[in-house]
Amino acid sequence: MELSEEQFRRYARHLILDEVGEEGQERLLASRVLVIGAGGLGSPMLMYLAAAGVGTIGIVDDDRVDITNLQRQIVHATERIGALKVDSARDTLARVNDGVVLDLHPVRLSADNAAQLIGGYDLVADGSDNFATRYLLNDLCTRLRKPLVAAALSPFEGQLSTFKAYLGDGHPCYRCLFREPPPPDTVPRCEEAGILGAVAGVVGTLQAVEVLKELLGLGESLDGTLLIYDALRTRFHRIRIAKDHDCPACTVAAHA
Ligand SMILES: [Zn+2]
Repeated sequence: MELSEEQFRRYARHLILDEVGEEGQERLLASRVLVIGAGGLGSPMLMYLAAAGVGTIGIVDDDRVDITNLQRQIVHATERIGALKVDSARDTLARVNDGVVLDLHPVRLSADNAAQLIGGYDLVADGSDNFATRYLLNDLCTRLRKPLVAAALSPFEGQLSTFKAYLGDGHPCYRCLFREPPPPDTVPRCEEAGILGAVAGVVGTLQAVEVLKELLGLGESLDGTLLIYDALRTRFHRIRIAKDHDCPACTVAAHA
């Protein structure tokens, strides 16, 4: 794939980087990323991935834009209240970069549709807000050998990691860290707990950086590390995640 003149200008600040260059940009344009959730994490992530020229971006979200979303979900807009989030996100992203293909999936991710959805992409970015989706994605991405860049938010904190547990020893999955989801309703979601909106922006933007790094093979992967952002103390902590050799998700991958 040859870059057009317009693409040479649009991606000029990538192209002058030795670490990206024309080859890296062409790789981004050929990449297919599935983003789960067009919410607090998905908003900045989608905008930066589209701006960067990730060639095909899938968006999974069955929700509609609500006025309470707009405090943090910056891909949406006041005049789109009531619209499907995937349609609202497409309107914004098409204005950022009409050179990327957007696959809209206005469905709720479930065990019935997840494998088929994920199968069509190179990498999955989890910006969902619930444990059922987080564990479903962890297990499926491990089994289907797809890199998973996952993030989670609490009112003043964010967590971020990359999982490539299908690579075997030294590559843990989310279940290696937390074997089972917490009992339902013990951990409140953003809707109930509240969140300082810009915290979602920081973490979703970090998530976009990690996605681009994985696609380009740049720097050190977060694979095996949990990054915690503590907004109130303005601190970042890194925790090493050990591979659990009895982990049910990893065991399935090892025998796949
Ligand atoms: Zn595991």
